Amino acid sequence: MGRQDTAASATPTADRAPLAQIGHWIDGAPFARESARSAEVFDPARGAPSGRVLLADAGTVGLAVQAAARAFPSWRETPLPRRARAMFSFREALIARTEELAGAIAGEHGKTLDDARGEIQRGLEMVELACGASSILKGEHSEQVAGGVDVYSVRQPLGVCAGVTPFNFPAMVPLWMIPIALVCGNTFVLKPSERDPSASLLLAEMAAQAGVPPGVLNVVQGDALAVDALLDHPDVEAISFVGSTPIARQIYAKAARAGKRVQALGGAKNHMVVLPDADLAQAADAAVSAAFGSAGQRCMAVSVLVAVGEIADELVRAVAQRAAALRVGPACEQGSEMGPLISPQAAQRVRDCIERGVAAGATLVADGRQVCVPGFEHGFFVGPTIFDHVRQDMEIYEQEVFGPLLSVIRVGTLDQAIELINRNPYGNGAAIFTAGGGAARRFQHEVKAGMVGINVAIPVPVGFYSFGGFGDSLFGDTHVYGPEGFRFYTRGKVSTSRWPSREQTGVRLAFPND
Ligand code: NAD
Repeated sequence: MGRQDTAASATPTADRAPLAQIGHWIDGAPFARESARSAEVFDPARGAPSGRVLLADAGTVGLAVQAAARAFPSWRETPLPRRARAMFSFREALIARTEELAGAIAGEHGKTLDDARGEIQRGLEMVELACGASSILKGEHSEQVAGGVDVYSVRQPLGVCAGVTPFNFPAMVPLWMIPIALVCGNTFVLKPSERDPSASLLLAEMAAQAGVPPGVLNVVQGDALAVDALLDHPDVEAISFVGSTPIARQIYAKAARAGKRVQALGGAKNHMVVLPDADLAQAADAAVSAAFGSAGQRCMAVSVLVAVGEIADELVRAVAQRAAALRVGPACEQGSEMGPLISPQAAQRVRDCIERGVAAGATLVADGRQVCVPGFEHGFFVGPTIFDHVRQDMEIYEQEVFGPLLSVIRVGTLDQAIELINRNPYGNGAAIFTAGGGAARRFQHEVKAGMVGINVAIPVPVGFYSFGGFGDSLFGDTHVYGPEGFRFYTRGKVSTSRWPSREQTGVRLAFPND
């Protein structure tokens, strides 16, 4: 992860043959100021450039923030039911244009169309949550807390909020942020991943179509320079970041130093524990789906399978059989189950990890380096890869590979499985497969992870719960979306009121004690 995986390099626009230009969205309209910096966007299945994205400089970021700041006073004053109604219309637009959006995601990310539709569906949940904001944003009122005194609390919007999002969910992750931030009365500047930027523009267009006024939602394309400009901008009140751990840590520190509210979600190494009493077929199906869906490029992908006791041999066999049957191919081909990686660098990184796993002595059960997709020989494909007998000191275990590489670690007991997970610096998701309620309950109680699955391999919470991890998977104290999302995008105000009669006067210096 991090910037070393970027397929596109910042090069002067004039140096290359013309490609479709992907610009920004500022103040309710497309914006494409001639930029000295741009980057190629790839079709990962073909391994060829498909577009050129402009990389915003501080000036362009400034224009987007100004537009958001200008739009804030009237958006904040827009009655809450009207803001919620805009979310209802946004929902309609998203449903109507799902296929178009899924096509844009698949074309630049490489995931299958079905997977892209699933991502949109999960994003839609957040819009639906925002539709119900009127009841979520209700305050509290306490009557007669002292003689004739009432207290009440409200939550108010922050102002201009910014979101910086990763390549692996170009629609869903922005939708974790945008609908909630907007319905709370904030305005927003999104800086999506420069590797698959088109989905964000479609989202902005749909929001405009839904009646979201100009300036309320803006998109600036770019890289670290644009992110720095957002972090440095005094009018940006809050930053939501989702991406790799090193960048999350850095953004958290920088934004906090600048006095901004910040939540920064990082990388992951998710373990799935299988106990000997688990249903083997179900566990194997789940492990393969969770490890290789989206070519392992999900922050909740299972990357470590922890086989407890005597189930190990059979489990590895069942997982290997299923992995061998997966159809690796481009999104445009019917029947493809697993697409390419995002960039040639990402594919090379996974191949290097396989090399190092072999050198470290892990048993290579399935080798994705051999994959060949006829007609797509230049695509960034790596097939499903499985290592057995992985040890904790091996690089393939320690690193977030973020590709189709599943490590199997064998342990003797549930205690050892929990200990293993709790020693890992990440703490996003953890799952257990078992037929025993007691073991499942203990696992859920003791494991250090923000999201736990019991016979569920990818326990991404539904929209009305919140999403976030422990340890190096989250910097900051609020999770995204759900109730915590509403807290993040609002600040509390508590008012104490008294309406005394004319006779109730008099100077009193002591603190009231009645
Ligand atoms: P990344 O960290 O490389 O990039 C994320 C965003 O940060 C992008 O918008 C990118 O342009 C920007 N960025 C990159 N380098 C930067 C820098 N030096 N300074 C400022 N901004 C910078 O992540 P990615 O490769 O796009 O996405 C994959 C990573 O995201 C994985 O580690 C994955 O686990 C993580 N992720 C986490 C979650 C979660 O919820 N915890 C969800 C999705 C993805």
